[in-house]
Amino acid sequence: VNPRTLLSPSYDVLIDSPIEIGFHDSLQFEVEGIPHEIVLWNAPPFDKERLTLEFAAIVKKHHELFGSLPYRRYIFMIHVSPGLGGGTEHLNSTIIQVPTTTFEDPKKYRRLLGTAAHEVFHVWNVKRLRPAALAAANLSSESYTDLLWFCEGTTSYYEELILVRAGLISADEYLLGLSESIHQCRVRPGSKVQSVAESSFDAWIKFNQATPNDLNTTVSFYESGAVVSFLLDLELRTRSNNRVSMDTLMVEMVRRFPSTGTGITTTDLIAVAGELTGTSFDEFFASYIHSTKPYPFEERVGVVGLRLALDADGVLPYSGIVTQMQNGRNIVRYVLSDGPAYEAGVLPGDEIVNELPSTPGTLVHIDLIRRGSPQRIEFTMGSISNGRWRLSRTDNPTSAQRAAYSSWLQQQL
Ligand SMILES: [Zn+2]
Repeated sequence: VNPRTLLSPSYDVLIDSPIEIGFHDSLQFEVEGIPHEIVLWNAPPFDKERLTLEFAAIVKKHHELFGSLPYRRYIFMIHVSPGLGGGTEHLNSTIIQVPTTTFEDPKKYRRLLGTAAHEVFHVWNVKRLRPAALAAANLSSESYTDLLWFCEGTTSYYEELILVRAGLISADEYLLGLSESIHQCRVRPGSKVQSVAESSFDAWIKFNQATPNDLNTTVSFYESGAVVSFLLDLELRTRSNNRVSMDTLMVEMVRRFPSTGTGITTTDLIAVAGELTGTSFDEFFASYIHSTKPYPFEERVGVVGLRLALDADGVLPYSGIVTQMQNGRNIVRYVLSDGPAYEAGVLPGDEIVNELPSTPGTLVHIDLIRRGSPQRIEFTMGSISNGRWRLSRTDNPTSAQRAAYSSWLQQQL
C-alpha cells in the first residue's frame, strides 16, 4: 500500500478523521503496544517529557477501566494560540485548543490534562457507545436526544476521576472540585426547573443560545450531568454493597452496545443498571434524570466514606443580583429568581447607580437606569447561607467504606 494513500472504511469514518499538514511538534508514546501521538501546532517551549508521561498515564487508566483500547493508533492534535479553548472528540483522535499560556500556568495546564482525559473517555462514551439518535444522525438537521447528560456529563465525571486515579491531582483537590460542582447545582435556581434529560433535549435550541435567564430556567447537561453521574455511582454501590459501580455500568454498556449497533436509549441504561444490581432503576431515573428532585447526597456519600455539609454557619445579604462593571458602569448581568430583586422587577441590562445596604431584612431603594430612563425599585434585602457544600472524609471509616473509597479513587481512605 502506498503510504501516501489514505483509506477510510466508510464515509462516516472519513468525516470523523481530521487531517493536518504543517509544522508540528510531535511526541510519541505507547500503551499496551498501541502507538499514540501528540502533535502540537504553534506551541511555545514546554516540558515535553512531562506532557508525554501524563497523557500516557491518562490513557493507561482508560485501558485499565475498559480492558482494551479500541483503536490501532490515536492522535492528540493540540492547537495553541491566544484565546483558544475547547476540544472535540473523534473516533481515533481529538483536537484540543488551548491558550498559549497553558504551559506556564498550572491551572490552565491542569485544564489541558482534564480535556485530554475527557476526550479519551469519549473514545468509548459517544464515539462508540452512542445514543440511538446520534447513531442514526442525519447530518442535515438537528438530532434530538435526552442522553447528553450521559454523553457529556458522565464523561465530565470521569474526566476528573481519571486524573485522580492517574495520580495527576490529589484526592483533596478532586473532592474540592466535586464539592464545588454539587454546590453550584444546589444554588442554581434552574435546578428546580429543568431536568438533565430536558437540558439534553433542548441543547439545540437553548444550551448553545445563552441568555441572561439561563441560570433561572436551565441546567447544564455537562455540570449537572457530572453531578448526577456521581449520584448514580453512589446509588449503584449502595444497592450492591459496592459490587457494582459506575465503572461496572460503563464497561457493561460498552460490551452490550457495540458501535455497529443501533445505539442506546434511556431504557437500555435503566435495564442494565437494574440487571447488574438486581433492583429497579425506574424511580431513580424518573426522579433525578427526568425530573428535578433534589439529589440526596447526604444520604448517599457515606457508601464511599464521605460526609457532605456546609463549611460555615450564618447568613449573608442576598438580593439575587449579579453585576458586572462595563466601561465604569455597574450593569446587572443576572437576576437570580431565588432572590428578592427578581420579584421586584430588576432586569439584566439595568445600570445600578447607588450603593446597596448589606444587612438582611433592610429595605433597599435601588436607583437604576433602564434604556436611558432613571427608575427606583424597592425590595427587602434577603439572605443566603454563608457556607459552601463540602465533601469530607469520615473520621472512623468502616472496612466497607475503605474498600469502596479505594475502588472509587484508587487511593487509601
Ligand atoms: Zn465532551
